[in-house]
Amino acid sequence: MKFKQTAFTDTFTENIKQWAAEIPDRDNSAIFHVYVPYQLDNKCKKVDEIRNILLCEAVGIPIIGCSATGEILDGQMRDDDIVVTLMIFEDPGTQVEVFSTYSNSEEFDAEEVLEYAMGIPHLKGIEILTACNYQRLEAVGMVFDRLPKDVDIFGGVAVGDTTNAQIVFVNDHECSSNGSVFVFYVGPELHIQTNRMFGWKAIGYPMKVTKSEGALVYEIDGKPAYDVYNHYLQIKKNENFFYDALEFPFEVQVDENTKYIRHAKSVNPDGSIVMSTNVPQGSYVRLTYGDPRRIIEHTKQSGLLVRDFAPEVVLIINCMGRKLFWGGKENIEIAEVSKYMKTTGFSALGEIMRYRSTTVLNNLSIVAVAMREGAAKKVIDLDLENMNQDTSMPITARLAIFINTITDELMDKNSQLGEMLYKASHDALTGLLNRGAIERLIYESYENSKNTPDWHLIMFDIDNFKQINDQYGHIEGDKALKLVSDYLLHNVCSLSNVEAGRWGGEEFMILLTGYTDLQIYDLAETIRKQIKQTSEAQIAFTISVGITKHLPEESVPSTLDRVDALLYDAKNNGKNMVCSDLE
Ligand code: GH3
Ligand code: MG
Ligand code: MG
Repeated sequence: MKFKQTAFTDTFTENIKQWAAEIPDRDNSAIFHVYVPYQLDNKCKKVDEIRNILLCEAVGIPIIGCSATGEILDGQMRDDDIVVTLMIFEDPGTQVEVFSTYSNSEEFDAEEVLEYAMGIPHLKGIEILTACNYQRLEAVGMVFDRLPKDVDIFGGVAVGDTTNAQIVFVNDHECSSNGSVFVFYVGPELHIQTNRMFGWKAIGYPMKVTKSEGALVYEIDGKPAYDVYNHYLQIKKNENFFYDALEFPFEVQVDENTKYIRHAKSVNPDGSIVMSTNVPQGSYVRLTYGDPRRIIEHTKQSGLLVRDFAPEVVLIINCMGRKLFWGGKENIEIAEVSKYMKTTGFSALGEIMRYRSTTVLNNLSIVAVAMREGAAKKVIDLDLENMNQDTSMPITARLAIFINTITDELMDKNSQLGEMLYKASHDALTGLLNRGAIERLIYESYENSKNTPDWHLIMFDIDNFKQINDQYGHIEGDKALKLVSDYLLHNVCSLSNVEAGRWGGEEFMILLTGYTDLQIYDLAETIRKQIKQTSEAQIAFTISVGITKHLPEESVPSTLDRVDALLYDAKNNGKNMVCSDLE
């Protein structure tokens, strides 16, 4: 594989003529990439001018390109140069194939392309340059995810803003501001390895995105999303918000395997935050912090990994946000990788990469795509001189470790506390509230009864339970209690404003708020009948039930005494019945 690159200068046509002489006489044996600064005036006209030269001097060689905010040339990120590169494939079996879709409205049949791709032997990678919306990109990604695991997918989102349209283009078609271009890289001797460089580190608790729509996050943990930046970091709603927040992007955990990074672009008066790309509702986010020393260290380590692959060219898709993070010093990173290898690429609005079979759109990352034909040509010695032996750590890194350790400990304690609270308020055998807990709720209802509607009690006791124990044993007795509690948990506790607890041995208490006398009576009858019916499958038993309503000006013990007395009326009148003092 050979690689050429040049800026669009006076000698451009000359350069292309020389390059063209080296292109093997086969179909699609090379590909041009064109990266155009997005703010350039008349950029489509310039692109056409360049493409005319390429189409004329290198007939039949595909061209793809997009608008960018930084174009890599000779290992440096340029700001104002149109950069043109040529990959030449030397192995007779290597070739590329280009597809495009030209607008959001045009139905791009990803299924059809997938079917086609499935049939290509030695398909190694798919490059995507896109200017389409996120949903569409995601839909296409999901179709491509069905490709065999060893097909790499990578690419970037073209750059644009409200005044300068983002564009992608292919061959001699018009520039599109909402289409996508796909390049299939094919060949038995072609090897591709895709890497993601990141370096931001998660800190603090995971928080749940409770309300979001696309890239707009309204609420996190039920509070305005901006609270996270204000409360934990004291980042203010002012003109610095973007840059301040850029050091603390969100790590978004969509499912067990999928994590990506989103950074905040702006904050709205209502406290919602516009993120770089979508953040699904229901996902969990953690703040991450960007420490330049740690980030560059991560880039160095990843750069060495890429170098070990012995690539002939490395395609770099660098995030625009990352470029802004470095504040004009972004060459630190590009130069770090470029000092070992030939690099090309651009700064994008989002970096596409397939990770564990799933195509994800990243932000703030560098996706580095290493390519070579044939076996690794040279074994690379470990460059000891350039290995970082520095074990000192910046204070921010130590503080982050401190925060994370404390967070982990607190999270542990929290879950222990939750478990203890549960145990303290629930009965171990039945899983119902224990007597203390249901009693507390009854007292709470009493305290609130001035403002809240009426409350009722239903109290019941299993009939002849001693006999069950005596006849079948304690274990069967326990099963009968479980049967009652399962019934209550599934059929009664699911009603609104209803709490049920185990009052004692085989006695149960139900507190109901806001129901009519008639509803309570019907419910008590239903419970009595259904428990009898359900128990018939095992050891048949019945219950006796007392029901009453809390009266105004009455104390809690009086209500409890009355319901207890009614329950014993039911016992004395022959059991398996409901006794009530309701009208
Ligand atoms: P009645 O119809 O009058 O209610 O008669 P009973 O036999 O149900 O009444 P009693 O209150 O005399 O008996 C309750 C029995 O419940 C006594 C006790 O051994 C048993 N018991 C209490 N708690 C448990 C328990 O957790 N498991 C089992 N298997 N039995 C229990
Ligand atoms: Mg009993
Ligand atoms: Mg009893």
